[in-house]
Amino acid sequence: MIVKRLAIVGASGSIGRQTLEVARLHADRLRVVAAAAQADDAFLAEVAEALSLEAVALDDEAAAERLAARLARQAPRTRVFAGSEGVRRIAAWPAADMTVSAAWGAAGLDATLAALEAGKDVALANKESLVAGGELVMRAARRTGARILPVDSEHSAAFQLLAGREDELRRLWITASGGPFRGWTVEAMRRAAPEDALRHPTWRMGARITVDSATLFNKGLEVIEAHWLFGLDYDDIAVVVHPQSVVHALLELRDGSFLAHAGPPDMRLPIQHALSHPERWAPPVAPLPPDKWGILSFEAPDLEAFPALRLAYAAGRAGGTAPAVLNAAKEEAVLAFLDRRLAFTDIAACVAHVLAEHETGPAGTLEAVRRADAWARERARVWIAARGPGAPGDGM
Ligand code: MG
Repeated sequence: MIVKRLAIVGASGSIGRQTLEVARLHADRLRVVAAAAQADDAFLAEVAEALSLEAVALDDEAAAERLAARLARQAPRTRVFAGSEGVRRIAAWPAADMTVSAAWGAAGLDATLAALEAGKDVALANKESLVAGGELVMRAARRTGARILPVDSEHSAAFQLLAGREDELRRLWITASGGPFRGWTVEAMRRAAPEDALRHPTWRMGARITVDSATLFNKGLEVIEAHWLFGLDYDDIAVVVHPQSVVHALLELRDGSFLAHAGPPDMRLPIQHALSHPERWAPPVAPLPPDKWGILSFEAPDLEAFPALRLAYAAGRAGGTAPAVLNAAKEEAVLAFLDRRLAFTDIAACVAHVLAEHETGPAGTLEAVRRADAWARERARVWIAARGPGAPGDGM
């Protein structure tokens, strides 16, 4: 049996940990050889010891020093790297056959590019790589022939449905759970606290992506991700709200037929698909047969209550640096909301403001993408500081 060797960037996050679970389950086929994370030295030390990793890296330099000191005693053969350069080394680790790119946010673009430029196939969980640097990422993949396997559940579903059907396609539909605020009024959402936004009805995810799911920015980023991954026009990508999260994507075909992909809302399934493709392995979670689905419902998203989706389509259509700006402003606004410095509904207001100020330019170089990202963060911080928490009666 061929063993696939993996490097994982973002190993301590939600996707990283679930990737380690899948690798443990299929230890006869998968071997993790290198791992990187932001700052969690205790977790990475455990993983390095348990799996005898060849190399680890932490973006945070002080945490990397602690990790190096600990591993010098406990796993002296594991090499330790620090900083963004260290994380890039893990992403392009020579012994790895595939890199799982699962860091959070625009910071993940570096790792995705480093892996692709080294010719490594990438299991892509970091959607911001494509949102901010779609042109760069797709160009790097074309140049080296490396493949991008989507881990995002909707895109994994679309990838599986599309295989060989590109010519029959009229439109791709991706589903959205609608998040915890589906059906809420704008007024109620204005007063929502981080605890409310973190109560996701179907998916188990990290905090920041759960907020993105509550605003529908996550779905907006996924529309842009689908545009790059599958080469589709924005008119040919649609979003439907499906609160049960059983159907992940649908293909609308030329003759009016629809093909759907269904499965339990559990990220271990799309993670395993990306790692096992083109094979199919034993399920990583209990299958969910149709007689257990219950009633499935589908409805159009409420673009008035959730302007994020409209903003993402507009940024996607504008192209160039606009999606990188949308994402960077959104990341700043989400952090401010989680810190109780900004009302929930002002996340989208902040992004709308920064996008309106932005003059879209070309995004064909990493330098241009970084400059747009930094500019947007600065403009967002200024807007957030002036706006304040805003939610009446929240006592902050
Ligand atoms: Mg998704």
